[in-house]
Amino acid sequence: MLLFSDVAAVFDELEKRSGRLEMTDILAELFKKAKGNEIGELVYIMQGIIAPPYSGIDVGIGERFAIDAIAAASGYTKMQVEENYKKSGDLGDTVEKLLEKRKQTALFTSEMNINYVYDAMMHISIAGGTGSQEQKIKHLTELLNNASPLEARFLVRFVLGRLRLGVGDPTILDAISVAHAGDKSLREPLERAYNVCADMGYVAREFYKDPKSIEKFKVQPFKPLMPALAERLSTPKEIIDKIGKCGVEMKYDGLRLQCHKKENQVEIYSRKLEKMAHMFPDIVETIKKLKAKEIIFEGEALAYNAKKKRYYSFQETMHRRRKHGIEAMAKEFPLNVFVFDILYLNGKDLTNEPYKQRREKIKKMFRGKILKASKSSLVSKAEKLDEIFEESLAEGLEGIMAKDLAAPYTAGKRKFAWIKLKKSYGKAVDTVDGVIVGYYLGRGTRAEFEFGGLLIAVYNSDNGKLETVAKIGSGFTEEEMRELKEKLEKIKTEKAPKNLDYNIEPEFWVEPKYVIEVAFDDITISSIHTCGKKNEKGYALRFPRMAKIREDKSIKEITTSEEVIAMFNLQK
Ligand code: ATP
Repeated sequence: MLLFSDVAAVFDELEKRSGRLEMTDILAELFKKAKGNEIGELVYIMQGIIAPPYSGIDVGIGERFAIDAIAAASGYTKMQVEENYKKSGDLGDTVEKLLEKRKQTALFTSEMNINYVYDAMMHISIAGGTGSQEQKIKHLTELLNNASPLEARFLVRFVLGRLRLGVGDPTILDAISVAHAGDKSLREPLERAYNVCADMGYVAREFYKDPKSIEKFKVQPFKPLMPALAERLSTPKEIIDKIGKCGVEMKYDGLRLQCHKKENQVEIYSRKLEKMAHMFPDIVETIKKLKAKEIIFEGEALAYNAKKKRYYSFQETMHRRRKHGIEAMAKEFPLNVFVFDILYLNGKDLTNEPYKQRREKIKKMFRGKILKASKSSLVSKAEKLDEIFEESLAEGLEGIMAKDLAAPYTAGKRKFAWIKLKKSYGKAVDTVDGVIVGYYLGRGTRAEFEFGGLLIAVYNSDNGKLETVAKIGSGFTEEEMRELKEKLEKIKTEKAPKNLDYNIEPEFWVEPKYVIEVAFDDITISSIHTCGKKNEKGYALRFPRMAKIREDKSIKEITTSEEVIAMFNLQK
């Protein structure tokens, strides 16, 4: 039986380390101790969740309630808890300290195992309806009453959604492999399994039941896949040189949807794998009518005005929907889904089929009014590719996607199976999706909103750190400024995020949560920013400005420092 005290001791150890290899070994030792009925729970807790993101089950307790529970369990007043929190900047540290000095001896202290802790967390998450906050506080207080100070540190961080052990998904997968095989040889099949179901707890459980099952892991309806991602190149010629004759598709600037159907049941997942069916009743009805009994496909949703031959970006579509109402909009600017991939059909996993074959199925199956195959042509010459690119811009689209005809669906990976060419290349090198880690107050006219700018970081996947890449002061509308200020105030923190590498400090730090797309002129070498830092020099965005808030992207999907360096090299 895996005791939570052992788990907490390992978490404590992990926090003191930063090398990936070391962390993998420490974790592997822990995984060896876990049984088949514990590994899933342990993995979820390590990821800071209790169920996969698409389950909609979220622990999310607010700071105020956590403070109530800490006060109840420690015997200190709420004010004393708050005072200590102001000093420490971390409620996990606060509860640990206060429990060490615990005034009331708990009536009952028993050792907690991982399943007990997991079940309690599940109770906290699903408590709903009237009095649910009291219920949550009660459950958390009970847990803290049974916890040692060290255990409490991690329990509180977990319920606040701030566990952040500095252990990414790749390290967890490596450690499962090392625990079982003694080396990383099983990392690849484990990773593939994870990428096709986006549920690491489930993969770990299946693996513990039968390690071989991982090699035969199949795509299934209602287990969404991690989306495949595109690499970038800057000219048509480079694309043809790289993948030869390819399928060239329009790149639609809509909302990416992953649609699942089994019999009469339909679900739609966003790019972040959140459930979206409730937002698109019209699309759901159309999917229900598809002949296929079971199917998973992906497409881009956006409005199209056939008369004017004009596409509307998803943001514009949603804005108009709000303004004119869904029904009026649905008539005038009906929402289309341009289907660009098919991943599963009637019991058959298609992700390993070459793209050429998947494309043929798409062409046959999606010819409707709402669900349409994305526009695509076979191209073997750079001139032809350039022509299609220009055509896409003329129609108001973002550019094109070139697809390797022989490639499988590369779930969860950025690969040259898909290459994007966008209009900004050549002038500006694309955009960067970064996470906000801090903000500055406004000056002059902006003082009214008390909001002046943002400090943005990207992710270094080599060492698991966030690294700053830009300070943005422009590109916002007044409405966006107001909205952002409100959002950021709620997630202010006393100290910098734990895994952030930084040389400059903003006026306020915030929890890394909101992803924004940043436009810029080019990338320069910088002594201020830490992105991709080597010998005290990092990379930074020149003339950065906000393009939009990317609500559809999670912090796990932000641009990596390696990508910024690749963009810098493309620029040359
Ligand atoms: P960008 O910001 O350039 O849109 P991104 O970071 O959102 O990129 P990428 O994987 O780099 O994601 O670019 C691919 C995105 O383009 C997909 O996520 C999808 O939403 C969209 N897309 C539009 N048209 C297509 C198409 N025909 N095939 C594949 N993806 C498409």
